[in-house]
Amino acid sequence: MKQLTILSGKGGTGKTTITASFAVLAKDAVVADCDVDAPDLHMLLHPDVVKTQEFKGSKLAIIDKTKCVECGLCREKCRFDAITEDFKVDPFSCEGCGVCAVVCPVNAVTLRDRISGHAYTSKTEYGFMSHAMLTPSEANSGKLVTLVRQNAKILAEKENSDLIIIDGPPGIGCPVIASVTGVDAGLVVTEPTMSGIHDLERALQLLTHFNVSSFVCINMCDINMDNTEKIESFCKERSIEVVGKIPFNPVVTEAMVNGKPVVEYALESDVAEEIKNMWKRLLSALKL
Ligand code: SF4
Ligand code: SF4
Repeated sequence: MKQLTILSGKGGTGKTTITASFAVLAKDAVVADCDVDAPDLHMLLHPDVVKTQEFKGSKLAIIDKTKCVECGLCREKCRFDAITEDFKVDPFSCEGCGVCAVVCPVNAVTLRDRISGHAYTSKTEYGFMSHAMLTPSEANSGKLVTLVRQNAKILAEKENSDLIIIDGPPGIGCPVIASVTGVDAGLVVTEPTMSGIHDLERALQLLTHFNVSSFVCINMCDINMDNTEKIESFCKERSIEVVGKIPFNPVVTEAMVNGKPVVEYALESDVAEEIKNMWKRLLSALKL
């Protein structure tokens, strides 16, 4: 089974548009939306949820009032100011670090699992999908990404699917690392702007660090041909293949507004044609 992650140094480069189109073209791949902080792939693939799992990614301190002697030690040591003057824990400030439980002289504090989000296994018109939603203000998105990937792997094994397509979160932080470790290839979607080039460099460094084969797609390549050429030379110097150059076309926005992958919405467009060519190149690189 092969795994391909689509990533970008920042949001808004067209990563999800491309992932959704790949899901259509692949037909029997499992798709994993690893952008658990702000998932949006479901808006194009319209999954029907078949299983929901609670994600317990953090802890919450609970003070037992019947045991508490109000010594104030927990309040003094809590670095997050999560304990009120009347010794109650503010759930929005508590980070679950456990210091209060350690310092309490009468064992009045316990740490309980807190539901930090939900993971979903779903069916779409194009195959199975694993996705999730982290509760706003909760941390540990990297752990939830790992759960999404585990669920995708279980689905792929069960369905005899030979490919998992992963829509990675934007940036290069912990959740992105969780979505690229151990995959066979990473496709970085960039755009020909100065910030796009900078983000591309960081994303490629990350893939190199984790020993993942890198490929590049330049989205809206014709909005600045000078920068597109710069990206191509940059990739050539590092022997990284630019597998796709997608022209700007308002039909991409139209497809999104209509909630459809662009290869389905505008089958004959130049954008769809280029995405199909890119898909073929990636399949060949993945030996599928
Ligand atoms: S678990 Fe940590 S953050 Fe939460 S109340 Fe205790 S000391 Fe404060
Ligand atoms: S440290 Fe324990 S006993 Fe002291 S105020 Fe906190 S909960 Fe109460």
